[in-house]
Amino acid sequence: MERMTDTAAPAQASDAATPDESATKRVLLAAPRGYCAGVDRAVVTVEKALDLYGPPVYVRKQIVHNKHVVTTLEKRGAIFVDETDEVPEGATVIFSAHGVAPVVHDEAKALSLKTIDATCPLVTKVHREAVRFADDDYDILLIGHEGHEEVVGTSGEAPEHITLVQSPDHVDEVEVRDPEKVVWLSQTTLSVDETMETVRRLREKFPQLQDPPSDDICYATQNRQLAVKQMAPETDLMIVVGSTNSSNSVRLVEVAIEHGAKDGHLVDYADEIDESWLEGVQTVGVTSGASVPEVLVRDVLDFLARHGFEDVKAITAAEESLLFALPNELRRDLKARQGKEADKIRHDAGSLH
Ligand code: SF4
Repeated sequence: MERMTDTAAPAQASDAATPDESATKRVLLAAPRGYCAGVDRAVVTVEKALDLYGPPVYVRKQIVHNKHVVTTLEKRGAIFVDETDEVPEGATVIFSAHGVAPVVHDEAKALSLKTIDATCPLVTKVHREAVRFADDDYDILLIGHEGHEEVVGTSGEAPEHITLVQSPDHVDEVEVRDPEKVVWLSQTTLSVDETMETVRRLREKFPQLQDPPSDDICYATQNRQLAVKQMAPETDLMIVVGSTNSSNSVRLVEVAIEHGAKDGHLVDYADEIDESWLEGVQTVGVTSGASVPEVLVRDVLDFLARHGFEDVKAITAAEESLLFALPNELRRDLKARQGKEADKIRHDAGSLH
């Protein structure tokens, strides 16, 4: 097991990790890392739904983009489907943290499905912005990745008003109806730096471009990137725990390399680490995407400790304490169940007298 030498000092990386310390093998461990509030809520939603209604519970798309989480929930009785019409009529379906377009709610209604919407409230916020600007007849330039579930869901709120802009290189192709009435919004899990570059180029083209009312790239994405930026200049190898379809996890590898890490890899599990990556390496950075349970990071730290990387130093870029309430539909049913159980206890106690 590794030795943890600093757990939570809100230190700057330059303080926490000086070059003369690198004579021995060491790990810089990012904080924050792993689960964000939206992922935690979505995973707990499926777990509680399984407890409350019993399996199977259907989930449209991966509840969060993490292989381990999906496999674990499948073992408990969750059935993941790609489209709503794969869910049997009248069954319960949970919508994933990435959000869905209004048409998906319509499809569920037509099939008389019981729906629980685990869309992250920070994604819902972007949906609301899209609706509001579309109602005001703006052209909305949505910065994001084509085909990503979140982008599909947000675009579905106002398809006639939204144009997708995938990167700074796509700005030249963008056309709008009225350059004086244009706003940009974004996917929540993008690289902050690349998004700002896209916005800079968009603003060159459309000087009247409006900003979103508040940051669309969420706090969790920003904080995880911030920690990686602090660690990267001193890191020979950055290991990001996360799945290849997890946008925020993929971005962490990119951000690490852009900010000076000599090498970087994304792994779902510790046993995917190739020992050759460690050759000549003294400092390994470790972090995890917002959909990654901590147990997978512990496995990576154990793997590294077995390979001589026992000293672990935490690099804390921000403190996080945000929590979201469970979806209303689920809270209502949980409360009803508690009420029934309390009634039964009262009834049983009464029949004893
Ligand atoms: S990464 Fe951000 S937007 Fe996505 S689920 Fe987590 S908190 Fe919500």
